Amino acid sequence: MENGSISDAGLVDWAIEEVLNTIGGSALVRVEPKLELAGRYFGFADLVSGEHVFDLKSGGVLPSPGYRAQLAGYALAYMEESFRDYCVCHELYIDAKYHRTYRLTWAEAKAIVDGILDAHLDKSSEPTACSYCKWCKHNLTCKALTEDIDDEDMKDFDLSNPKELGEALHAARRFKVWCEAVEKEAKRQLQEGVEVDGWRLQNRKGREAVSILDAHRELYGRMGSDKFLACCSINISKLRKVWGESYNEDLPVEDFIKRSKDTVAMVENK
Ligand code: SF4
Repeated sequence: MENGSISDAGLVDWAIEEVLNTIGGSALVRVEPKLELAGRYFGFADLVSGEHVFDLKSGGVLPSPGYRAQLAGYALAYMEESFRDYCVCHELYIDAKYHRTYRLTWAEAKAIVDGILDAHLDKSSEPTACSYCKWCKHNLTCKALTEDIDDEDMKDFDLSNPKELGEALHAARRFKVWCEAVEKEAKRQLQEGVEVDGWRLQNRKGREAVSILDAHRELYGRMGSDKFLACCSINISKLRKVWGESYNEDLPVEDFIKRSKDTVAMVENK
C-alpha cells in the first residue's frame, strides 16, 4: 500500500481474510518482496504466494483497468524470477472492501510493461497527466500538471457547460496533485531547516491513545459499565470476525447495527 497509516485494523482484517480465502492458511507467502527486472525497474508488491500477487489499496476504487499497469510490473518480474507463465493479480481495496482480481500471462504483462517503458524512454514523448501522478516522484516539476496554469485560460471555462465543466475538473485535479506536491516539498525543506519565505512550521499535539485493556483494568471497576462504555466504540468488522470464530450463527446484534448514509465519489470515466 502506497501511503498513509491504517487507522482501522478491521480494514486490514478484511484484506487478510481475502488473502486467506484465496491461498489457504498453509500457503507460503513473501511479504513486501522486492520484484525487479534487472536494469529496468523494481517495486515492492505487498504479498506474493504461488501464482498470486496481492497489492493493498486505500481510498476509492479505481475504475477499470485499476492498477493493472502497476500489477503487471510486479507480475512480470515475479514470473521471470519464478519461471511462471501466468500470475493472478489481486487489488484489495481495504476501505471499500472491494477485491479486483485478474489473470495476466507473461506475454500480456510484458506487453503492458514494455509499452510503458518504451514511452518513458522515448525522448520525443511528452508526459500525460493520469491517476498515478499523485505518487510520481516527478509531480513537483512535471509540466503535464502545470501546463494549463494560466489565469486567462481558467477564466474562460464556462462552468454551466457540461463539457467545459468536465475539462475544468480535469484541470483542477491536475493542479491539486501539483499543489499537494508543493506543500510536501515546502514542509520537507522547512523540516531540514531551510527558510521558506513567509512560512514556518508549527507543532501540533499528536493524537492520544490508550489500550482498551489498560483502560478496562484501571477504570471499569471504578466508573461502572454505563460510564465506561459511553467512552468506547466498537469495530464492527472485528466484532463480526471474533464472533464468527467462536459461534456458528449470525451476530445477534446485526439488527441494531446502524449504517451511516452512503457517500458518493466522483471518478473519471475510463
Ligand atoms: S507527474 Fe508527470 S511524469 Fe509523473 S505520472 Fe504524472 S504525467 Fe507522468
